[in-house]
Amino acid sequence: MTNLNSEQLMEMEHKYGAHNYHPLEVVISKAEGIWVEDPEGNKYMDMLSAYSAVNQGHRHPAIIKALKNQADELTLTSRAFFNDKWPLFAKKLAELTEKDMILPMNTGAEAVETAIKTMRKWGYLKKGIEKNKAEIIVFEENFHGRTTTVISFSTDPVAKDDYGPFTPGFKIVPYNDLEAVKNAINENTAGILVEPIQGEAGVVVPDDGYLKGLSDISKENNILLAVDEIQTGFARTGKMFAFMYGNIDPDIIIMGKALGGGVFPVSAVAANNDILGVFKPGSHGSTFGGNPLGCAVAIASIEVLLDENLAAKSFELGKYFREQLLAMNSDKIDIVRGKGLLIGIVLNESAGKARIYTTKLKEKGLLCKETHDWIIRFAPPLVITKEEIDQAMESIREVLG
Ligand SMILES: *Cc1c(COP(=O)(O)O)cnc(C)c1O
Repeated sequence: MTNLNSEQLMEMEHKYGAHNYHPLEVVISKAEGIWVEDPEGNKYMDMLSAYSAVNQGHRHPAIIKALKNQADELTLTSRAFFNDKWPLFAKKLAELTEKDMILPMNTGAEAVETAIKTMRKWGYLKKGIEKNKAEIIVFEENFHGRTTTVISFSTDPVAKDDYGPFTPGFKIVPYNDLEAVKNAINENTAGILVEPIQGEAGVVVPDDGYLKGLSDISKENNILLAVDEIQTGFARTGKMFAFMYGNIDPDIIIMGKALGGGVFPVSAVAANNDILGVFKPGSHGSTFGGNPLGCAVAIASIEVLLDENLAAKSFELGKYFREQLLAMNSDKIDIVRGKGLLIGIVLNESAGKARIYTTKLKEKGLLCKETHDWIIRFAPPLVITKEEIDQAMESIREVLG
């Protein structure tokens, strides 16, 4: 434990750390389950889960045990050699996603980059698209990470400005509009990259039938459908993956965040042989991708989700939480939306900025973050109980009621 207090730590970060974030004024030095604590010993309920990377709860004992055991055996080999954990992780995730193969990376953005490379390579090798002409359809208000290529098709000026020149080959169309997708398709279209629910955009849930529509369009036009489940996956939305609400079988599943159980960055892409098979030795890779430490953690993280039935729990408690939020009948709240325990509260214009409320909630011991200026996201670890939601609702009523 550090002997510096919160004030000193925030000052130090401000002085020595780049200012690419604007954190709420709380320093976290300890955590367990849904609870976090600052150096002064104040306790807070975590309602963000590190942007859904901590679905299993902070420091889940089974995940920490896997981490410690593996740390005592082997941590990194690189893929220059086989190791004894990556095959087990690949098998486990392939079975969970019902896909033939897995390609392991570390961060979400790297997995998205992998999916983009997969779709392009498939486009050239399998579909016969003319060299360097492949196009991928993406959506307005998307969030897929921070790399230069990924922000090339962002529509958020804050994420994009002054980072050009940008990677070409992306067509941006409105979300939740199937006609727009149809109109954007041509002979060079290799794939569609979509979030089943747009998390960063403010928990935007598309209409029923939208994902099915995208899937049908993809099949009819011989293009690949890639779903970015980095934030929505691993039980967050009340199913193991959010695409399951659409009853579809996407070609490519992109995963990250909670795959590492809030402990270690692990990301991956799942697809069948005819798609991921486009990669040959040397054509793509990552030094840490498939590292035994990450694999051991990811295996445990998946097992926790299954053993504790966290998808069903997220479904039920999410429904309950949203009902409670709606029952407040608050004149500050315009819309309550989401699925499972991924919940967005859109504020009325008259209510003022979301930051006012996230700051007040913090003072009441509840940590959450605004997305845009007018939306509050609630996404607690999925191990939260009904009683703890009731407890959170007391603070929420005081601040937003
Ligand atoms: C967080 C996120 C990413 C990027 O993941 P990083 O690990 O931060 O690179 C990509 N897509 C979605 C939908 C995300 O929520």
